[in-house]
Amino acid sequence: MRVLTLGCVMIAALPALVRLGTAEEAHDTRPNLTVLLRYEHPYSAPSFSALERQLRSLLAEAGLQVEVRERKDANAREEYTDVVVFNMKGHCTMAARPAPNPLPVGALSDERGPLAMAYSADGNILPFGEVECDQVRESLERVLGKGAPDRYQATYGAALGTVMAHEVYHMLSHRAKHTKTGITKESLSAREMLEGKLTLSDKAREAIARAVLPVER
Ligand SMILES: [Zn+2]
Repeated sequence: MRVLTLGCVMIAALPALVRLGTAEEAHDTRPNLTVLLRYEHPYSAPSFSALERQLRSLLAEAGLQVEVRERKDANAREEYTDVVVFNMKGHCTMAARPAPNPLPVGALSDERGPLAMAYSADGNILPFGEVECDQVRESLERVLGKGAPDRYQATYGAALGTVMAHEVYHMLSHRAKHTKTGITKESLSAREMLEGKLTLSDKAREAIARAVLPVER
């Protein structure tokens, strides 16, 4: 079953989330969350770097050390403390995209679709999600216009990282509920993504930390 949006999601007890259990492990510098990205199309390298920086920075507030990798580069035999996977749908770049051929006509759609989403099954939020790269770009372009795309690759990447951190919150905390403030609000405007001032709210940070990190003794 597919759940809403930047989206949103559903709950539950994912046994896959492994906790770091000892003080020694707590000081481990290895990543305790690996984020794997599966791109549909070639993407902008500067936007990827900015995405990684933004995701690492936002989730560090919840005590996570995050690594971001392309799924195709990941070795099937590698073991992760914890892993989530995102399908990067559409063209993940601000640069001009090739016109679709054949060109769709008469399409019917909402003015604004979801920016990202997580999946759930049987009431459980899964560590799998989707980022709507075209929707995020189109949202930013409503403010930025379509000129000088290269100048905005890093800005775009940071926006992608922000919507992904929102979904990681759902996945790790097992909560579908949104917070009233911060990047885990029910919706984010283009201006909020561009300003980059929003971070994890205290509630979201605590929910993630409780789910992933060892309890202090
Ligand atoms: Zn959401």
